[in-house]
Amino acid sequence: MSARRIAIVAVAVGAAVLAWWFFARPRPAPPSIVLITIDTLRADRVGAYGAGPGRTPTLDALAAEGVVVEDAWASVPLTLPSHATILSGLEPPHHGVHDNGTYVFPPEPPTLATLLGARGYATGAFVGAYVLDRRFGLARGFAQYDDAIERRTSGASVLESERRAETVTSAAVSWIKAQTGPFLAWVHLYDPHAPYDPPSPFRERFEGRPYEGEIAYVDASLAPLLAAARERAGDRLVVLVTADHGEGLGDHGERTHGFFVYGATLRVPLILAGAGVPRAEKRAGPARSADILPTLLALAGIAPPAGLPGSDLLRGPRPREAYAETLYPQTLGWAPLRAFRSGSLRLIEAPRPELYDLSDDPGETRDRFAERPQEAERLRAALAAVRAGEREAAAGPADAATTERLRALGYVAGAMPGAVAADAKDPKDALPLWQRLEEANWAAARGDHAAAVPVLRALLAEEPGNVAFKRALSASLRGLGRAREAAELLGSADGDATAWHERALALTEAGQIDEAIRSEDRARALNPLLPEVHNHIGVLQARKGRLIEALGAFDEAVRLDPNNVRAHTNRANALRSMGRVSEAREAYLSATRIAPEDADALNGLGVLAVQGGATDEAVQLFRRVLARDPSHAEARLNLAVAEARAGRPDAARIELEQILRGPGSSDVKDRARRFLRDLGY
Ligand SMILES: [Zn+2]
Repeated sequence: MSARRIAIVAVAVGAAVLAWWFFARPRPAPPSIVLITIDTLRADRVGAYGAGPGRTPTLDALAAEGVVVEDAWASVPLTLPSHATILSGLEPPHHGVHDNGTYVFPPEPPTLATLLGARGYATGAFVGAYVLDRRFGLARGFAQYDDAIERRTSGASVLESERRAETVTSAAVSWIKAQTGPFLAWVHLYDPHAPYDPPSPFRERFEGRPYEGEIAYVDASLAPLLAAARERAGDRLVVLVTADHGEGLGDHGERTHGFFVYGATLRVPLILAGAGVPRAEKRAGPARSADILPTLLALAGIAPPAGLPGSDLLRGPRPREAYAETLYPQTLGWAPLRAFRSGSLRLIEAPRPELYDLSDDPGETRDRFAERPQEAERLRAALAAVRAGEREAAAGPADAATTERLRALGYVAGAMPGAVAADAKDPKDALPLWQRLEEANWAAARGDHAAAVPVLRALLAEEPGNVAFKRALSASLRGLGRAREAAELLGSADGDATAWHERALALTEAGQIDEAIRSEDRARALNPLLPEVHNHIGVLQARKGRLIEALGAFDEAVRLDPNNVRAHTNRANALRSMGRVSEAREAYLSATRIAPEDADALNGLGVLAVQGGATDEAVQLFRRVLARDPSHAEARLNLAVAEARAGRPDAARIELEQILRGPGSSDVKDRARRFLRDLGY
């Protein structure tokens, strides 16, 4: 009896040992993942998708060693909502982000970053445009979110609301090189987005085809990024490249994207390669952006969250259905568009709905809605089912500075669209108006407001109630210095915080400070979450000498938008005026962490250095400002003070004489003249 028991124990021990050996076999390390999203990249402009060789050699080489998913579609032709889908696996009705600049990704859905971060991955994101700033919610889960894009709000420099691919990839490369374990790096490259302006030598090589030049440039910039990732992760690396949407390039009359939901702006490349990915295969689609998260999680050996619509593109069931939408036309007062695909059939729901059969009409040129009513009805019911669980729109942070930057990127950002009017125009019918508005926006973004104004006036004559037209016209009138007219145009604004704020800016420019404060108070009451409203209130209160009120407003602005350089320097200036030196210094440094050469911040730090007796440090700071902007008269005057304090009156005199010869306000010149006299010259 005891022998039997012993035998059983022995068997049990043996089994346990076997099991131990089984589980202790070295398991492969979790793969590192590089997710690359190239903005505005049409699938058919990539070599691996039939564009021909020579344009995208890096992507084509990646495709040759991995899988090319054909017939891949984004859910929405807009940057922020599409990235929300890529990163969360949720379709727009379920993540609630429908447009750029007006929505925030909600705080609870798991994303690629939160899921991999929870498994010990290092997580870093490197984005190329303001539309993906952390304010809009996609930073959650990323330990590092590099969105330090210098923002300017006037003139040609607004275009700097994006940064070149090389800047983004070099930040990503430095971060990747510092990793010691598995990592997720999301790299977003904005260059192919309009305006098309490839750098040399791509500008010359693609003369007359600047969009393709931008694509070729981005492709070239990927090579060092992929090399660094391979060096760090070895054969435990997965790379996935896709786009957030395509570009119309004139298809269906749409030059850019966002306005329609045809394949021209929704078909995207989807290439993946590396650990666990078959080599040199083409997969027939259809595939969706929502399939990216389940596919990457499967490669990392992680089960996706329950209830997601997407599937693992390598081993899961082949998707047959796809949702798409754009609510962008609604921003302009027109009807939104939604689409549903089942197999080769695509329904576009609009005031005049359309039905296409991609099997013999991939360009969606032959509307079959009238011919095939039963199939159209079936797709319409399926579309309604997707929307059944639609979530409330997430709170929107749009304000005039956001709007200004987005306008520079070619978008009209407005208040969150309300209910659709029953008689809202079908975007197909509004296309000519949209094309003219786009022309005006581009002219305004170039600084050519004189060209924009007559176009906008004509548009407003056709749709006198169109708030998007009114605000664009008001902005261009301000650009021409016609501030009073600009304010009057928005005088009847009801209910829209951004319009009240824009009115306040116009009133300030017209010198009506008290009325501007009242207008801004209304904006703040309507939406207390707009950083530029608080920033502007601070500026106005400071002009009135009310520094405590000003400081409170700047505090709120930087709390709402920690990347806002101007709000940091304004806050620092207020603190300095109040004699709170060390806090002022900290605030200037907050500005230079985002924009290292920001003139106002360096000038402010220089003033503090002079006051603290560190004249040599001050001289260096003022010279840095002047190296970039020799016409900065205030910095030059400060430089003269620092030189004099350092016992170099001759050096001071040279600077003061230069101020008197150059541009600059009469106030600065008066002070320079007095200073020269005091120095004995
Ligand atoms: Zn985009």
